[in-house]
Amino acid sequence: MQVERLFERSAFYRAKLRAAGFSSAQAVGGLDRIAELPFTEKDELRASQAAHPPLGAHAAIDISQAARIYSTSGTSGTPLYIPLTRQDVGQWREIGRRTYSCNGLKAGERVVTTYGAGPFVAGAALAAFEAIGAVHIPVGVGNTDKLLAAVERLQPEALACTPSYALYLSEKLPRKHSLQRVLVGGEPGGGEQPFREKLQSALGAKVYEIMGIGDIAASLWGECPAQAGMHFSAEGLIHVELIDPDTGAVKGFSDGETGELVYTHLQREAAPLLRFRSRDQVRMWTSPCSCGRNSLRVRCIGRTDDMLIVRGVNVFPSAVREVVARFQPRVTGAILIQPRLRAVRQEPPLPIMVEGDAALAQTIARAIRDALAFTAEIRMVPPQSLPRSDYKSRLVDFSSAG
Ligand SMILES: [Zn+2]
Repeated sequence: MQVERLFERSAFYRAKLRAAGFSSAQAVGGLDRIAELPFTEKDELRASQAAHPPLGAHAAIDISQAARIYSTSGTSGTPLYIPLTRQDVGQWREIGRRTYSCNGLKAGERVVTTYGAGPFVAGAALAAFEAIGAVHIPVGVGNTDKLLAAVERLQPEALACTPSYALYLSEKLPRKHSLQRVLVGGEPGGGEQPFREKLQSALGAKVYEIMGIGDIAASLWGECPAQAGMHFSAEGLIHVELIDPDTGAVKGFSDGETGELVYTHLQREAAPLLRFRSRDQVRMWTSPCSCGRNSLRVRCIGRTDDMLIVRGVNVFPSAVREVVARFQPRVTGAILIQPRLRAVRQEPPLPIMVEGDAALAQTIARAIRDALAFTAEIRMVPPQSLPRSDYKSRLVDFSSAG
C-alpha cells in the first residue's frame, strides 16, 4: 500500500485517515489490516474536486505533474477529472495488455475497435492493442458503415465494442466474415449466458467479456478461452476486496460468493484511491481455471447504481434482460424498463417493454416472477422498435416516470 504517499500528499486522505483514528502511515499497518480503513465513495471524490479545483484534495500531484487527464461521462452527476502521471499511463497500458490478451488475442492479429479516443477512459484501453502487438484498426463510435467496410476489406480476426453494439451489429454483419472473437465491455451483459449464446450464434464468433472502472483502471478483468468468468489482470498494482454492499462487511473469497468489488491502488501516483467502492456487483470464483491461470475470476451481476427495489426485492436490469433472453429466438433480447416513479423504490408491477412475439407476455412475466421474485407488467413490442445505441444501451428509461 502507499499510505505514506497519501499522508504526505493527499489532504483528503490525511483528514479521512485521521478521522478514522490513524495518526500516521505506521499506525495504518499493511494490507492484511486494510478492512479497518474507511471506504472511498465516488460522491466524496466529486465533492473533493468541487471544493478544491481542479483535481480535488484527494489528488496526490500538482496538475503540472499529470501526463493525461480523463473525465467521466457525468451521467450520474458532475464529470470527474481523472489524472494520470506518465507512470500511471504505463501501468494502465500493462493492465490493458494482460486484460485484452487473456482471450488469446496475439501479436499480428487484426482488431477493429469502436471506442473513441475522446475524454473517457475507455480510450485508454486502446493502448492495450499496441502493447499486445496487434494490428489495431480504430473506427470510432457510431460509425457502422466504416466498421462494416473494415470487416469486409481488412478481414480482422477480432472486434472490440459494447455488448449492445455487438447485438446491433449481429443484425448487420454479412453471414460470412473474418471475425473469430468479439471483446465486449463498457456495460454488463457480455457474461450473461443466454445473451452471450445469442450473440455468439448471431455473430458467428466467440464473445469474451472485459471489465474496468474509470476511477481505478480502464480495464481490470478479462475472460480467457474457457469463458468461465473474467480473470483479474492487475495483480501487484491494484488490491481487490469483496464486500457486502449493505453492511460494508468484508466477504472472504470463495467459489460462488457474491458482493460488491472494492479497489485500492497500490502504485498509482496521480490520484490513488483507498478502498474505492465500485458499485459493481459480481459473483466470484477462486478455484483454478481450466486455462491454467489461478487468478480470481468474476462475472458482473449488475451495478448498484442501476438497481431498482421492487417491494423490497433488489432488481438488476441486466438480470431482467438475462431472463428475457432465454426466450430467444422468439424475442430479440432487447428490453426497456419504464419505472412509474422517478426513484429506486418501485411498487409492482414494474412495466417492462420486450421486443418479440406478442404471445409471450404472460410467459415472460411468470419467468421473471420465478427467477427474480418480483411482478413485472410485460408489454411486447415489435422487433427493432426499442432504441439501439452504439455505446451503452439504457435498460431503464425514467422519461415517463412521475
Ligand atoms: Zn481461465
